[in-house]
Amino acid sequence: MSAPPTEPAGSDFAPLHTEDGFAALGPQFFTRLAPTPLPSPYLVGVAPAAAALLGWDADIARQPGFVETFVGNRVPDWADPLASVYSGHQFGVWAGQLGDGRAIRLAEAATAAGPLEIQLKGAGMTPYSRMADGRAVLRSSIREYLCSEAMAALGIPTTRALAIVGSDAPVRRETIETAAVVTRLAPTFIRFGHFEHFAAHDDVASLRALADFVIDRFLPACRDDAQPYQALLREVTLRTADLVAQWQAVGFCHGVMNTDNMSILGLTIDYGPFGFLDAFDANHICNHSDNQGRYAYSQQPQIAFWNLHCLAQALLPLWRDPQAGEAGKEAAIAAARAALDPFRERYASAFFRLYRAKLGLRRLGERDEDDEPLLTSLFQLLHGQRVDYTLFWRHLSRISSADGSRDAPVRDLFLDRAAWDAWADQYRARLRAEQSDDAARAAAMLAVNPKYVLRNHLAETAIRHARDKDFSEVERLLAVLSRPFDEQPEAEAYAALPPDWAAGLEVSCSS
Ligand code: AMP
Ligand code: MG
Repeated sequence: MSAPPTEPAGSDFAPLHTEDGFAALGPQFFTRLAPTPLPSPYLVGVAPAAAALLGWDADIARQPGFVETFVGNRVPDWADPLASVYSGHQFGVWAGQLGDGRAIRLAEAATAAGPLEIQLKGAGMTPYSRMADGRAVLRSSIREYLCSEAMAALGIPTTRALAIVGSDAPVRRETIETAAVVTRLAPTFIRFGHFEHFAAHDDVASLRALADFVIDRFLPACRDDAQPYQALLREVTLRTADLVAQWQAVGFCHGVMNTDNMSILGLTIDYGPFGFLDAFDANHICNHSDNQGRYAYSQQPQIAFWNLHCLAQALLPLWRDPQAGEAGKEAAIAAARAALDPFRERYASAFFRLYRAKLGLRRLGERDEDDEPLLTSLFQLLHGQRVDYTLFWRHLSRISSADGSRDAPVRDLFLDRAAWDAWADQYRARLRAEQSDDAARAAAMLAVNPKYVLRNHLAETAIRHARDKDFSEVERLLAVLSRPFDEQPEAEAYAALPPDWAAGLEVSCSS
């Protein structure tokens, strides 16, 4: 923090050009309302990479009015605040109307890279708050902020986080916590649930308007298809398959894959009780409220597919001919199936591509499946030995294809060393089969296997400091996570195994 603020008090952060995209859809899609002010707001953090998306540098946060604006206390000239309505399936059950219960969209900015909605999460009650308070706590806000930016740095599609502003206003959860507002950015926050909402109300005109909006603004290639709405479903299917394959590869568990938490653009959205795998457990459940393990790590691909079926169901009226009776219905369902069909293959091909890269392998045969036995035995091994997922890949990157002389760091992660040796023999044989060059392979593997991920205990440490008004750990962690593939010698501790106390951490839907 060096130079003094340059803008006069009351600056509205021009130049920020805004457009009227979503808001032009009509009043059935949202309710206009201003955020509810919070007392004595203070800046907790600002993310430079997210600020850059709006053409700002991180110093923007020092301008007078920034904190007041991004906590929701002052509505700038360029804002048109609104909360949108959606519905959805939660934990496999139709939940009816939900909506932005605590998120208020300020505006849709026109940026060099296209439209970007600016949304305040935790900005107060809306008509969609149901029985809840419209607030978010500092704890969950820090987790969302850090993880959004960490995922972006990992190259995984995600909503972004510009800033966190805190307030000492009390918020009741299991205990009394304090409030915070995260400013989120995304081309659009439209979810599968937005479509489900209008389908559930038999409002086909609004459903069509929403689909047209998404196509024309974000997925224009679908318009060239003979069946644009089916093309939309196919495109969302492909994006969702790619997204979940990336989650699996990096060991990310979303925790609440309800249809209202599924982005129509295939972005990771609504960070709540998420977690990165520490010790590999295929059935890891990161959300303490998920008693059945519906959203366990291993379930994510099929849950994504299930959610896509809900989306397909919602879109069906867009191509079903109501005059054609039962036959028309059958035809419409067949068309939906055809659009969903590519999921399995797309997921599998993304999965194999990502894991071949993680293993430093080229594709040898015609078929992806040729490498399946090697991967399956690896997963069994990692699962059986509860090997740290992130450290494993990082250390694996540096072994020799000739012999076990450089195995120690990775081998030491296994309790059963002989089991590692047996798998390593297979792996080395596979490497030699493609005459793998150790140095080139190590460089390539280190560029796809992150050293730094947002482990729960890292977030927790930052949260504990922040509760004492020390936000330096949030900033430091953000900086480390923004270069996840780089060796950062000063940040070695952030790449270590979780401490014993991390085992007692529980994250739930409460946020
Ligand atoms: P989530 O589990 O965070 O995806 O939220 C599910 C639904 O509950 C969404 O409609 C949210 O807007 C709403 N919601 C969650 N927490 C709150 C809260 N504290 N106040 C109002 N609405 C909330
Ligand atoms: Mg949600």
